[in-house]
Amino acid sequence: MDYQKLLEEIKSKIDIVDFISEYINLSKTGQNYRALCPFHPEKTPSFFVSPSKQIFHCFGCGKGGDVLSFLMEYEKLSFIEALSILATKAGIEFQINKSSTYSISKDKLYRIYEIATEIYSKKLSESQIAQKYLTERGINQESIEIFKIGYAPEEKDFLYQQLKKLGLDEKIIKTSGLLSNFMDFFRNRIIIPIHDLTGRIVAFGGRLIEQESTLPKYINSTDTPIFKKGNSIFGLWQAKPYIRQKGYAILMEGYIDVILSHQYGFKNSVAPLGTALTQEQLNKLKNFTNKVVIVFDSDEAGIQATEKILQTLFHKGFIVKIARLPDRQDPASILQRYGEKTFKNFIAKALSPVDFILETKSKKTLNEKVYELLHKIAYMNNLIYREELIKELSEKSTINELTLREELKKFLSSLKKERTSENKSDTNVLNEEETLLRIALSFPDKIQPLLSKIELETIENQIVKQIFYKMKNIADTDKKEVKNDFRVDKFLNTLTEEEKRFVSKLIISAEIDEDYIMENLKDCIKRLKIKFIDKKIKELSKSADKNLLQNLIRQKKEILRNSYEGL
Ligand SMILES: [Zn+2]
Repeated sequence: MDYQKLLEEIKSKIDIVDFISEYINLSKTGQNYRALCPFHPEKTPSFFVSPSKQIFHCFGCGKGGDVLSFLMEYEKLSFIEALSILATKAGIEFQINKSSTYSISKDKLYRIYEIATEIYSKKLSESQIAQKYLTERGINQESIEIFKIGYAPEEKDFLYQQLKKLGLDEKIIKTSGLLSNFMDFFRNRIIIPIHDLTGRIVAFGGRLIEQESTLPKYINSTDTPIFKKGNSIFGLWQAKPYIRQKGYAILMEGYIDVILSHQYGFKNSVAPLGTALTQEQLNKLKNFTNKVVIVFDSDEAGIQATEKILQTLFHKGFIVKIARLPDRQDPASILQRYGEKTFKNFIAKALSPVDFILETKSKKTLNEKVYELLHKIAYMNNLIYREELIKELSEKSTINELTLREELKKFLSSLKKERTSENKSDTNVLNEEETLLRIALSFPDKIQPLLSKIELETIENQIVKQIFYKMKNIADTDKKEVKNDFRVDKFLNTLTEEEKRFVSKLIISAEIDEDYIMENLKDCIKRLKIKFIDKKIKELSKSADKNLLQNLIRQKKEILRNSYEGL
């Protein structure tokens, strides 16, 4: 299989800006797009995507490359896995070579979940109990289809038998998390698929149908190579375009809450899997927005969960509001009973964290409440928002602002050990070798003359040298291609990941002024040659060979005089 050819075809069909936009929020800046880097924590965006070159680069952590590199890094996939996903996305037939040494077990797991989803979905259409349950919860056919809801019957090994009948690999079935001790993991449950950000189903949530059972109401698939509970947010795949559009996300507790909210038009709703919200989940969400409205259940547990989540959200720099529902209600029950207008009202009247904490009924005194909130605010990464909240807290609690600030200071100094290792961005000054490569990448017509003027052997930077050699290779085998049709993205396909990173950084970090390329080029070549000769002279200075030395000095003079008209 010619992977380079395949990658080339993929890239002709998938635009890197569109593709990365599915994962993170890109905004246009000049010729490029920028964003907060998904690969390292940062407050100011240093992640860039170049549409003209079809590459990305982060100046904070140094990650960079093409669409394939991005997918591999973001989803932690092998080369083959990422390639196969991209091929499918681009609508290209792609068969993995059996003898391939790459792991394809993940692909098989995705396939199993896809098949299981179909099986459960078919079962739902046959089951009256399951359909009745969904109708009672107010879920319509459209939602069933959008969320690919299904039903796992009560039988011990219904799914297992079906999967075996289809001839699926027993070993893979076992690692799928869909079985436990040869029994189906999900039984007599409504099956709610959990998607990853590329839209693949990676796990299931199961809602018990029976009301009087002692079993847990909700269970999730166990962690597998394709699913980690703490990494996924339910509904984010369906919600992401709407979160962008509306500028905020609605965070709720349950699957059914999210499904009904989407059904009633609140399509920017998502839920963590379980009540705790992890840093990883928030990182995913942060790629789409930094504003959330929390709508948890109005019971004691819901209030506690909200208070707990506030700190994590603050720490991640989220701007938070909390919608408070009447006693014993959740988003699903409000929507079902009172409709979207009422729910919309609750969202519109969402409280600031200060109001929420101060107004919530509890045994705590005002001072205790203020103290707790201050503690959460201390974690806040968004300084402007922090200022606002402190002012508000002072106003509403009538505690002097200075007193609050003094308290906050104490908290902060105890938090001080937290390192603020924001990476300082690299300097953008290129040396001669880098400049030459940079020019070659942007002005393919200069490649041939350039290669004829420099001796690749003398290049000191190993990566630059390797890349030039690969360039020369193409130039030698197909001179026409280099002259007229040299495309950086195509050339990238021939590079290693490390080389790709280097090239993408070079391209995005330094714009070349077209008016001065020639001067730049000549100047660099000259300086390189002189550098090389100087090195030799230094080496030889100890030896007695005067002739050789004289010769070198003559060469140097000649270079200094030479203007490289041939370029
Ligand atoms: Zn980064």
